[in-house]
Amino acid sequence: MHTIPESHPRYRSLITREKLVKGFKDGIVAPQGLIAHGRGEAFDYILGEKTHDFALKSEKAAVLLLSRAKNPVISVNGNTTALVPGELVKLSKLLNAPLEVNLFHWSRERVEKIASLLRSFGAEVLAEGDAVLEGLESARRIVNKRGTYIADVVLVPLEDGDRCEILKKHGKKVITIDLNPLSRTSQMADITIVDNITRAIPNMIKTAEELKNGPNEYKEFEFDNNQNLRSAIQLICEYLTSKVLD
Ligand code: ATP
Ligand code: MG
Repeated sequence: MHTIPESHPRYRSLITREKLVKGFKDGIVAPQGLIAHGRGEAFDYILGEKTHDFALKSEKAAVLLLSRAKNPVISVNGNTTALVPGELVKLSKLLNAPLEVNLFHWSRERVEKIASLLRSFGAEVLAEGDAVLEGLESARRIVNKRGTYIADVVLVPLEDGDRCEILKKHGKKVITIDLNPLSRTSQMADITIVDNITRAIPNMIKTAEELKNGPNEYKEFEFDNNQNLRSAIQLICEYLTSKVLD
């Protein structure tokens, strides 16, 4: 990794890029994943690169839904693994939701590399690819009998719109993490977390820990995804307007 001085104004963003570049060199991140991250970064910039109230709310709703699920699963790809491997494992354990490797740019080698990195953090990882999600042509159709195939709630960070649609058709509740509130995935999911995955997963860990210690606070939780998405788009508008007026 390049050494990036902590004083650099874009320190966090640059460290994140370094993680992805390392992931790419290690065969975990697909080249297309680097492009997808660029799109995410652009949206993060116009969100002010922080977790807003609407994001925190969706993160809480997501943890609650996952914790109440019968068969929850957390779907991971190259980017998510390169960015937050230890955090994904921690969340998986707290929620009793296995991690499942699912790739758009599929290769057996990349699946194994991702699975073994996550297993080195002590995770239960489903990577057999022994089931198929009917109705999908891309490699994202390759799932696991003990994972997405039987899951009632699926957390799919940085998901592709096509699979989100099929997951819904199969009657699953879909939670996504996507910085673009306008993407097809964001518009189609049951819960859309408009936040950077590097902030969203740590926030979800915190909520899952709080939930374990005292579930009462969460009993009356109400969540409207369309309303939440509108808040995200509105925030972007207001943020940009404030820059015009500066
Ligand atoms: P869709 O298929 O849903 O219409 P898309 O084709 O534009 O969306 P994909 O490449 O399929 O995008 O999915 C990647 C999504 O992940 C993008 O919307 C991008 O903004 C988002 N993204 C990339 N990096 C991050 C990140 N670090 N945190 C959260 N979201 C991210
Ligand atoms: Mg897509």
